[in-house]
Amino acid sequence: MRYGIISDIHSNLEALTAVVDALADTDALVCVGDIVGYGPDPNECCEFVRERVMATVLGNHDAAVAGLMPLDWFNSYARSAVLWTKEQLSDENLRFLRALGLVRESEHFVMVHASLDDPRRFDYITSPWEASPTFAEMGTHSLCFVGHTHHAEYYALEEGRVGADRINMAAGGTIDLKPGFQYIINVGSVGQPRDGNPRASCGIYDTEKRFVQILRVEYPVAVVQSRMRGAGLPDILWDRLAYGL
Ligand code: ZN
Repeated sequence: MRYGIISDIHSNLEALTAVVDALADTDALVCVGDIVGYGPDPNECCEFVRERVMATVLGNHDAAVAGLMPLDWFNSYARSAVLWTKEQLSDENLRFLRALGLVRESEHFVMVHASLDDPRRFDYITSPWEASPTFAEMGTHSLCFVGHTHHAEYYALEEGRVGADRINMAAGGTIDLKPGFQYIINVGSVGQPRDGNPRASCGIYDTEKRFVQILRVEYPVAVVQSRMRGAGLPDILWDRLAYGL
């Protein structure tokens, strides 16, 4: 089985379209949360996920737009994007977001937007010690997909060791999944990369060949920027897309 892994789409339909093309050779798509927030096309991105994605978890932006958490968790730019998105979304798409669960498991992996120990806290995993509580909650799973930081990277913990290694994947590449290891993998963000690489990010998980590949995909950034400007979204939110920061 070959899964296409997407995360942090953030209403960026141009990036989503490019990524889905790059993942054409997969059997099923899964989404690690934050379908909406920041970008200009929340309804189209929700509709794509509803129709084409096999399993999705709730991101913090999805939760805020759906009225499931207060807006004081967000900085002022993110908050204005949440309010704008809320106004745009159809009732059907709001209902879809409201019904998403925080954690999904399959025989091949577990996924959560932020961290597994208390998914409702939306804690960021940015270091091996912040990864530790999620490793502790993985049980018999050897692979956990997370999103939230918009950094393509992974943490690998060998059985018997207490600290994980952290490996940057911002340039893309392949992670060979070795026996005796647990992995927390962030495939990066489709719609708002923050790891210094402005290309859209996504992953392929091949369960038979035991690897996860991180792909970086070009998309028309300037088109999205002018649509965001036209929608009156804060300058900083479209400006950063050019730099991947
Ligand atoms: Zn996000």
